[in-house]
Amino acid sequence: RPVVAIVGRPNVGKSTIFNRIARERIAIVEDTPGVTRDRIYTHSIWLNHEFSLIDTGGIEFADQPFMTQIRNQVDIAIDEADVIVFLVNAREGITDADEKIAQILYRAHKKVVLAVNKADNPEQRQDIYDFYALGFGDPVPVSGTQGTGLGDLLDAIVAEFPTEIEDDDDQSIKFSLIGRPNVGKSSLVNAMLGEDRVIVSEIEGTTRDAIDTKFTDESGQEFTMIDTAGIRKRGRVYEATEKYAVMRAQSAIDRSDVVLFVIDGKDGLREQDKKVAGYAHEAGCGIIIVVNKWDLVKKDTKTMAEFTEKLRGELQYLEYAPIVFVSALTKQRLIQLPEMIKTVSENQQRRVQSSVLNDVLLKAVAITPTPNVKGHRLRVYYLTQVAIKPPTFVVFVNDPDLFHFSYQRFLINQLRQTFDFAGTPIRLIARKRK
Ligand code: GDP
Repeated sequence: RPVVAIVGRPNVGKSTIFNRIARERIAIVEDTPGVTRDRIYTHSIWLNHEFSLIDTGGIEFADQPFMTQIRNQVDIAIDEADVIVFLVNAREGITDADEKIAQILYRAHKKVVLAVNKADNPEQRQDIYDFYALGFGDPVPVSGTQGTGLGDLLDAIVAEFPTEIEDDDDQSIKFSLIGRPNVGKSSLVNAMLGEDRVIVSEIEGTTRDAIDTKFTDESGQEFTMIDTAGIRKRGRVYEATEKYAVMRAQSAIDRSDVVLFVIDGKDGLREQDKKVAGYAHEAGCGIIIVVNKWDLVKKDTKTMAEFTEKLRGELQYLEYAPIVFVSALTKQRLIQLPEMIKTVSENQQRRVQSSVLNDVLLKAVAITPTPNVKGHRLRVYYLTQVAIKPPTFVVFVNDPDLFHFSYQRFLINQLRQTFDFAGTPIRLIARKRK
């Protein structure tokens, strides 16, 4: 999936444009605790073109001179993106900083779309002609506050997408390891690939110099391990920032079927862990919680159960994710990981017939009657599965407003008790029956 990055000096309106493009997508996924609203990474669709979008302005470099900050942001865009949206301000004309950004972009030989923001009225839309001088062809006038011109901008962006043919034969399960620095992701990668039973078949570098590794397990199942932030250490300045690390993790998650969410068994869970896990949940990935460095933990017979209970309390929305306690050092239980990934991937693609689903629905309503709000009772008529990866169900009801979160949870639990959906999120959407 192509990656698009927005660059431009401060206050030209990068995050306004980002949020305009991202809005639709953000609105359809539920809020997950721990996932902050100040997003800098999202995915979006325009005319059947899916892409990821980065707002480089959201990556701040405190205590750095103005131009260094901008330079770092533009470097990130050049490294990560296929198409760069260079945003300028119609009301201020071309500034020195704009010219500096233009110079960096010329040298990068990347596809650039020049967008002129704050072109709110016809007069300002005239001013855009000045921006031809930047040398990036036709400027596209937009207004972030009014939402005008975005369609033209998106057209210009998708026109620059590479026309590569997707590898449809690829039957491998794609997975990535996510987690904050030092939890042991690289050690786990090396330990997993170093297993005797694993055959590493190829290492692919792409233009964005990401490295995916393919391997086959004993059963012949093929896996693709997606390279993740923090694993390959390239040593650029901006890689030390947390937002950049989170963004890289999000981009890996977007390409993954299953995510191994790695936490440090000795340190336990931190805020940063929760953010990235929340994103994987929203993205609909299968999730396995991998508690690493278990060799360092003093254990008695209750340690594992206690750790599990604490973790479940802190990550309630990941109740479906299996937990495995491993050590990259001693290789304890690493052998189980490919099998677990495979099972989660199967569960994520499980399809259930409507007839069977409606038996479950009838039984559920018999156990727990639907909520009754001020004399209006929720009526549930029909349940059907509309998608996999993640399994997504539509329930037809008399009034979606009566379909409260608690009843939604109850129905999802009934589905989980009846079918094996371990490791995968489930989406349940209420629609009004016509
Ligand atoms: P990453 O930043 O998540 O990729 O973490 P690394 O793989 O670089 O590991 C960070 C540190 O933890 C290194 O010093 C590793 O040797 C150590 N480490 C990783 N896994 C384990 C483990 O299972 N047990 C122990 N004792 N140390 C580990």
